[in-house]
Amino acid sequence: MALRFASLGSGSSGNGLVVERGRTRILMDCGFTLGDTAFRLGRLGLRPADLTAIVVTHEHTDHLGGVARFAKRHAIVVHLTRGTALSLPLDFPATLVRFIDPHAPFEVDDLLVDPFPVPHDAREPVQFAFSDGAVRLAVATDLGVSTPHVEEKLTRCDALVLECNHDPGLLAGGTYPRALKERISGRFGHLDNNSAAAIVSRLDVSRLKHMVAAHLSTENNRPDLAVLALAGALGCEDSWVGVASQHEGFDWRSV
Ligand SMILES: [Zn+2]
Ligand SMILES: [Zn+2]
Repeated sequence: MALRFASLGSGSSGNGLVVERGRTRILMDCGFTLGDTAFRLGRLGLRPADLTAIVVTHEHTDHLGGVARFAKRHAIVVHLTRGTALSLPLDFPATLVRFIDPHAPFEVDDLLVDPFPVPHDAREPVQFAFSDGAVRLAVATDLGVSTPHVEEKLTRCDALVLECNHDPGLLAGGTYPRALKERISGRFGHLDNNSAAAIVSRLDVSRLKHMVAAHLSTENNRPDLAVLALAGALGCEDSWVGVASQHEGFDWRSV
């Protein structure tokens, strides 16, 4: 049974990624409205009822914003840290909440979910790796810097979705206010293309079959710059590196 994954969209206006093994389907984050989420799932051939669970990385609106209404409407359980759960609406049904330990892997039917903490300006942020026991997909967006622990989770993966938020030059020369520029480029902000490439260059990529750049800033980055950085680190053709876009995400990829 193959593991496959796809993105509903990626960036500061909303995120969502589906991981599927057989009939087990996990939605990682949901930053879209009820209708938009259903539309984006439909593009991938899925209905909301096809989802087994939602896992949430942190409380920022582009990740948590659509979770409560969607989960409630379709009665889907939500796995999240206690820190992230503080931002759920007060009327969110407790029966749908599953608290996670940011260091403890857990099972959702046929998938093993492996959370790991990341440095980001949220209450208890994590990112996730997913495995069926044979192959492994790791996703890491919304982190200011890497850590040895993060890299332990990203190394020897079969598929990697990694944040390439901004190009340092475009951010510095762009129109954002200084405080926002400092937040984005800070240790609890977002990874730039070069930092993402430096991380990749330290990983064991001998099993890697998919590399996708994600959470690109529309204002402070360009897909070709992110691809160039990651392809340089991997020593591969530019065309081999995928990019998750805000509007389209990316289509199914099988591991
Ligand atoms: Zn984000
Ligand atoms: Zn964030």
